[in-house]
Amino acid sequence: MIEMKGVYKTYPNGVTALNGIDVYIEQGEFVYVVGTSGAGKSTFTKLMFREEKASEGSIMVNDYDLMTIKERNIPYLRRNIGVVYQDFRLLPKLTVYENVAFALEVIEESPDKIRRRVMDVLDQVRLKNKARFIPDELSGGEQQRVSIARAIVNHPKLLIADEPTGNLDPDTSWEIMHILEEINEKGTTILMATHNKGIVNTLRRRVIAIEDGLIVRDESRGEYDYEI
Ligand code: ADP
Ligand code: ADP
Repeated sequence: MIEMKGVYKTYPNGVTALNGIDVYIEQGEFVYVVGTSGAGKSTFTKLMFREEKASEGSIMVNDYDLMTIKERNIPYLRRNIGVVYQDFRLLPKLTVYENVAFALEVIEESPDKIRRRVMDVLDQVRLKNKARFIPDELSGGEQQRVSIARAIVNHPKLLIADEPTGNLDPDTSWEIMHILEEINEKGTTILMATHNKGIVNTLRRRVIAIEDGLIVRDESRGEYDYEI
């Protein structure tokens, strides 16, 4: 589902964030991306949904060639990719229900079907009872669950999470992880950049470690292995 070969990324200011990445990720995998701050983790994930374009190399995601994809086709690529951020990025004036419904790519669906899909996904993240709340009325963990609901409402094949537990306390972080695991069990590939050593070393999954823009370690049931 994801294949990178000889990928380099140099930003306009001259900083080289990725220095020759080769990686293959299959549909259904759960992958942690670890590394010190500035190692290149965010850049690595941003390349997958064309938030950033590689300077060199080849990238295939869900059968799209990201080096040659036309601007007008990028929205189709992104339809199959959900993204979750550390700081949630919800629309503050919309309710929980509206934040999720807003993201739904509606193609001639009946209002009834839309409502059902939004409520189903809110049920999946256990927030059905807060559909009418606005983000400010929710705890951090609840806001992150809304952002997960928004990310999966279109049934994406790939979910990218950039430090999804970075702003949350340990108990809340575990809640988020259980939800991500359930999503992965249903077949969605998950790529999660994280500094959460406890989670990586407990929920053992594939670990890709990045240092100075290079993959320095790639293990199928890996460990965190940093002192931060
Ligand atoms: P990480 O997510 O591991 O902290 P990043 O991918 O954010 O790493 O950053 C890798 C390197 O690229 C860092 O040196 C960072 O300063 C640089 N960088 C990231 N984004 C940009 C940008 N938009 N413009 C210039 N340099 C950037
Ligand atoms: P935490 O401190 O764990 O982040 P909070 O104390 O902020 O959680 O919230 C605890 C519960 O109270 C949550 O379920 C949240 O939805 C609810 N809550 C918090 N603030 C409000 C509010 N202004 N209006 C309605 N419910 C709220």
